[in-house]
Amino acid sequence: MTLRTIITITLVIAGIAVIFYVGYSLIFKHYRRSNTIERTLAIIKPEAVQAHQTGPIIDRIEQMGFTIIDFRKVHLGKEEAAKFYHEHKNKSFFGDMTQYISSGPIVVMILEKLNAIGDWRDLMGATNPAKAKDGTIRKQFGTNIEKNAVHGSDSQAAAQQEIAFFFADRRK
Ligand code: ATP
Ligand code: MG
Repeated sequence: MTLRTIITITLVIAGIAVIFYVGYSLIFKHYRRSNTIERTLAIIKPEAVQAHQTGPIIDRIEQMGFTIIDFRKVHLGKEEAAKFYHEHKNKSFFGDMTQYISSGPIVVMILEKLNAIGDWRDLMGATNPAKAKDGTIRKQFGTNIEKNAVHGSDSQAAAQQEIAFFFADRRK
């Protein structure tokens, strides 16, 4: 085997490994489990707060073993909402969604438990309440794909960023 063949084979194997890793990461982004104590950011969205569902939603959160490390009620301006959801700035629903998130007070919380990020997303359910499984918060409290009752961070990096967004001034 020539050196050139060996290098080619090595590069092909490395390329396949990278493709598998990136594919796996994208597909399972929301379901990665770290088996460590994590913190995530949860939001109860305006329509759920207005409908007096804050208490029942917090009940579900505590029943699932999350510890609420901190929480506050805030009313975002449209620009702040756009900053928070900047990853969606090119989506067709961006304008409506930021308008909606800033339409009334929201309740923001830092939740902590083992695998908090994935477990909170499991408890929330699918983005579209019509497709969310029975027993999930979006199935029970969501109205439609936009007014879906709750938000949750989707990765460790997002959780850190989002917690800092709302709780930068928090006492440790
Ligand atoms: P969130 O980030 O709020 O936890 P998610 O991660 O399940 O929700 P994303 O794809 O991040 O879903 O969308 C962010 C939010 O934008 C959704 O929760 C919803 O309020 C709104 N949204 C998403 N898709 C649509 C859509 N097709 N039409 C209208 N609003 C949408
Ligand atoms: Mg999201």
